[in-house]
Amino acid sequence: QGKAYQFMMRTKQPGGKVDNRLYKTMDNLADRYGNGTLRLTTRQTFQLHGVLKQDMKTVFSTVIKNMGSTLGACGDVNRNILAPAAPYADKPEYKYTQEYSDKIADLLAPQAGAYYDVWLDGEKVMSSEEDPEVTKARNDNSHGTNFEGSPEPIYGTQFLPRKFKIAITVPGDNSVDILTNDLGLVVITDKTGELEGFDIYVGGGMGRTHRKEETFPALALPLGYVPKEDILYAVKAIVATQRDYGRRDDRKFSRLKYLVHDWGIDKFRTVTEQYYGKKFESFRELPEWRFEHYLGWQEQGDGKLFLGLNVENGRIKGDLKKAIRAVLDTYDLPVRITANQNLVLCDVKKAWRSPITRMLQAAGAVVAANKLDPLTVTSMACPAFPLCGLAVTEAERALPDINKRLRGIMNRLKMSKSDDTFVVRMTGCPNGCARPYMAELGFVGDGPNSYQIWLGGTPNQTALAQTYQEKMKVQDLEKTIEPILATWRDERGPAESLGEYVNRVGFDHLRQKAATYTPV
Ligand code: SF4
Repeated sequence: QGKAYQFMMRTKQPGGKVDNRLYKTMDNLADRYGNGTLRLTTRQTFQLHGVLKQDMKTVFSTVIKNMGSTLGACGDVNRNILAPAAPYADKPEYKYTQEYSDKIADLLAPQAGAYYDVWLDGEKVMSSEEDPEVTKARNDNSHGTNFEGSPEPIYGTQFLPRKFKIAITVPGDNSVDILTNDLGLVVITDKTGELEGFDIYVGGGMGRTHRKEETFPALALPLGYVPKEDILYAVKAIVATQRDYGRRDDRKFSRLKYLVHDWGIDKFRTVTEQYYGKKFESFRELPEWRFEHYLGWQEQGDGKLFLGLNVENGRIKGDLKKAIRAVLDTYDLPVRITANQNLVLCDVKKAWRSPITRMLQAAGAVVAANKLDPLTVTSMACPAFPLCGLAVTEAERALPDINKRLRGIMNRLKMSKSDDTFVVRMTGCPNGCARPYMAELGFVGDGPNSYQIWLGGTPNQTALAQTYQEKMKVQDLEKTIEPILATWRDERGPAESLGEYVNRVGFDHLRQKAATYTPV
């Protein structure tokens, strides 16, 4: 009898789409082979924790045979592609984000059959025929993007230097944290809703290493615009540039953001244009970004409804797990996972709204978005202890209590529940899976029960936070945060968010105020 090694399995769900059958498969697998819970991730996928080594083949093959996939969910390849999870039937731009998340996922999927050899003994199970446009773009080598003769035309024998993350969204909707991705695409439509092309951002990324200042989180920068018929070629050109020039000597510096930073965006554009075979057009002007959570009951636009269901830190367990399963068994609904770790139940007939609400409320779920604490709505935590081998402290298990303590501070300061909210994110290590460097108040684990405090992200995720304090012990939360919130309350401008305020006054001012602060 060998050691009982256990693993985490992550699926790939472009745009967070999950059909009814796959959800139920995952739900069953979690009970039978996992730890009895399902984890929704910040990249719109499932994670199943606690899968024993001897069960891996059964679990993986079950997922694949039920039209799921884990291919490219990990590794130095394109990862799951984010897109807004809202299933709007009457907003064509939202449909394009889903359509292109599928096309680009197919374009960049590893082609060699090893995946099927390992998990299905060579039997290939495909969910659908591949789009000919995708096949053509993948095989096109007109500008030297491909490895000739390799089973991996784009990845070659060495694959990419590091993981590669893509998000696609519509102008204004930043539910996907667009600027944190290696590649961010924004669909541009004409007045009639026809797709014209895409704005492209490159070089975003969160991961960093403590005490290595040369590693840093970065916001993606505008690269340019391409018409729709060229988008797959432009994506391939960007991936090929990272493949050929991204650093491979040190994994800490191998994400695209370091290449863009080292070269500057102009050189990156020039080199990528050689693979693309054309010049990028000028980046089209975009409206301001806003965060969308899609929680609560909403019109889908085709006579049906959808329900955005808050799942605290993405962990579906206990009564909530049973209730969601009962709803999906009864009404045969597809779902979508949001980039904020929540679940959207889609295609709900109006007559089903009341019974579904009752089923979920009986399990303790808060269905109406305005009944949730706003801190909970926008906060996120990664799994960390005890599930992630890289964690140095708690995140998912700690955040609910941290949010309660923050609410306690705000109550003492007589701050309003609805107007004085801010974005809180927490991770168990500096890798930043829950994107803490975009939070208005970020907690980044730096030791047992200890966190770096990051301040300065914005409610719409367009600014990077900075390190305000190292090694805050969790018992010092009130002592550390209360002066900051009190100063914000007293000095902010009209509707000025915590992050905007912090960026205006600066950390020195906050620290001076904290030094003379008298606790309430
Ligand atoms: Fe693990 Fe760190 Fe990612 Fe959290 S941020 S899930 S601790 S790697």
